[in-house]
Amino acid sequence: MRPVTTGHQRSNYGIPGFFTWAGLFPRCYNERSRFFYRYGGRGIRVCERWHTFANFLADMGEKPDGKTLDRIDNDGDYEPGNCRWATAIEQRENRSDKFRDLTGGTFGYLAVMARVSSKTPSVKWICRCICGTEKIVSGSNLVPTERVTRLTRSCGCLGKRMKAWAHYARLGTLRKATVDI
Ligand SMILES: [Zn+2]
Repeated sequence: MRPVTTGHQRSNYGIPGFFTWAGLFPRCYNERSRFFYRYGGRGIRVCERWHTFANFLADMGEKPDGKTLDRIDNDGDYEPGNCRWATAIEQRENRSDKFRDLTGGTFGYLAVMARVSSKTPSVKWICRCICGTEKIVSGSNLVPTERVTRLTRSCGCLGKRMKAWAHYARLGTLRKATVDI
């Protein structure tokens, strides 16, 4: 057994997970940290027990190769019971299964039919457009918002309709202009 000290001592540096642990604090407590808005800014904290590295190590064990620290409930704190070492794929699946089942949801013209099983970290959904076309859409593009920009809202027919509408609108304006003269 390597000696484990409680805090930031150099003797802990070689223990896998030490730098993961150390990295939790800026993101949760330093407003100037680049990712603060995703952690401390949302009220995510590190439990007091884990303010000591030895306690974190006792609860979580060493970091396995290829895994990072995952919070099981994305709105919960860094604390025992809400954390695990997981691969990127495991983390993504956890989120989508537990917190973002989109089946039955509608996004613009699209109704979400089912999740597409895949081995990649990105979660995809099969959607049916109001025009009847089916399209596979990445979960990150299916976000409930009124804004149309950059999000997938149709199989592609919305863009065509938009163009047509713009065309009719221009025609209408032209006709109106003609009448006014
Ligand atoms: Zn369509």
